[in-house]
Amino acid sequence: MPKKEDNKKEDIEEKKEETTVEGEEKVETTAKDAEIPVEKPSEEIKEAAKPAQNATLSGWNPATDIGKKVKSGEITSFAEIKEKGLKVMEPEITEVLLPELESDLLLIGQAKGKFGGGQRRVFKQTQKKTKEGNKPSFATFAVVGNSNGYVGVGYGKSKETVPAREKALRNAKLSVMKIRRGCGSWQCECKQPHSIPFEVSGKCGSVILKLMPAPKGTGMCVEPECQKVLRLAGITDIWSKSLGQTKTKTNLIKACVDALHNLNRMKISPKDKEMLGIVEGSIKKEEN
Ligand SMILES: [Zn+2]
Repeated sequence: MPKKEDNKKEDIEEKKEETTVEGEEKVETTAKDAEIPVEKPSEEIKEAAKPAQNATLSGWNPATDIGKKVKSGEITSFAEIKEKGLKVMEPEITEVLLPELESDLLLIGQAKGKFGGGQRRVFKQTQKKTKEGNKPSFATFAVVGNSNGYVGVGYGKSKETVPAREKALRNAKLSVMKIRRGCGSWQCECKQPHSIPFEVSGKCGSVILKLMPAPKGTGMCVEPECQKVLRLAGITDIWSKSLGQTKTKTNLIKACVDALHNLNRMKISPKDKEMLGIVEGSIKKEEN
């Protein structure tokens, strides 16, 4: 397995070198434009409106078909990709299509030390015993989401902390999924997407996590790391129940992601959709 990963890395590095050559040319042209800013005021305003998108677009050389379509403007929304069932292979696609993306790291590790260690840390540090000595490696979980129906969780592991975080972020961006939201609480019946439409459960290892719809104002009654995932998915009220060894945070988070997957697996009728106020993916801000 590690050999394959190395090959991939080399490929990516080669591509990066190619892109930098083209990128330098582009940088020169933009510098010339910057010298004469007065002549084109209308274009400047347009560019100012989408600074993040332009930054990723200019330095990005897409390798896949979907990437090329996103860059040329053929695909303009993330919902389109999910409807067609396409697989995202480049993290830039999510960066361009979901500009409001926020990221966070989950505390899966534990500080070592006296008195039981205890303190939760971002990186889970493990060691392999070898002839030369102990070889440490670091692992972490990253979450990305737009707090409006799209969320992704990714795992990354490396010998150093920084590459582990980057791998995790990349994996999270590649695994962004659509969340089905609604109001399944009989105490509330507001038909707004503040909770989940029905009870759902996920499993990983011994951990079983059950998520239940809650009325407005309840808040997040879940374990703090799952809270981060659900908050970035755009859920504000939820109840939960967990079974098994939940202090294994890796399994707990995987169970949470499994539960969110199961949310999409349920077949629903148009009548239910109206009754529970189900919303798939993100909603426009004007409606809020
Ligand atoms: Zn409600």
